[in-house]
Amino acid sequence: MTETTASSGGLPNLPMQGVPQPRRDEVLNLPRIHISSHPVMAHKLTALRDKNTQPPEFYRLVKEIGALLAYEATASLALERSPIETPMGPMVGERLAGGIGVTPVLRAGLGLAEGFREVIPDVQVWHLGLRRDEQTLQAMEYYNQLPHKVDLQVCYAVDPMLATGGSAIDAINVLKRRGIPRLCYVGIIAAPYGLLKLSQTHPDIDIYIGALDESLNDVGYILPGLGDAGDRQFGTF
Ligand code: URA
Repeated sequence: MTETTASSGGLPNLPMQGVPQPRRDEVLNLPRIHISSHPVMAHKLTALRDKNTQPPEFYRLVKEIGALLAYEATASLALERSPIETPMGPMVGERLAGGIGVTPVLRAGLGLAEGFREVIPDVQVWHLGLRRDEQTLQAMEYYNQLPHKVDLQVCYAVDPMLATGGSAIDAINVLKRRGIPRLCYVGIIAAPYGLLKLSQTHPDIDIYIGALDESLNDVGYILPGLGDAGDRQFGTF
């Protein structure tokens, strides 16, 4: 993974080399961080991380984990009263108050967004294309399919790997410009470095993750992590 590129003058591209990183225990108790403690999550994560898990199974697991994370991340959504008739008579039920949006950061966020749709089928899906510059690790926007008219109570930016935090921070910046009252980030695995960066840059959002790993390697991949979440979902090795 320590590729050399023409634009780096033939030198190895090691953007995280020598960059100080916080330890796991230093970020565990940050406010508004929710790390799943569900045994089914731990079970599915192990299968996901396994290098022998092939793309079709990997994608299925990402969707299932997306559904579990959606369930956790929607636990505090607002409800409104909704009078209905059951076959037995009238009652006042409850429905989610206002629309719910999910913004998959392309392309790795697609599987997670599908998991959200299984929990909330009428969720609005707003695609956002962000690419990491391999030299600087900065996120660059290349596709934005967000509607102009927004009427949501919450929007979830979903991207499986919270590594350096660049894409997640940028996705939240884009969504904040739309004036959505509540924003959350949802990911599968975070590194302490990216988690701290996201939490410090956007202290007003909730962050839901399946696991908090140890560190980033010199090229910005999460350790022990699972490799490249996009390649593993779509078989592009
Ligand atoms: N993106 C990935 O897909 N994996 C990592 O470990 C970091 C960023």
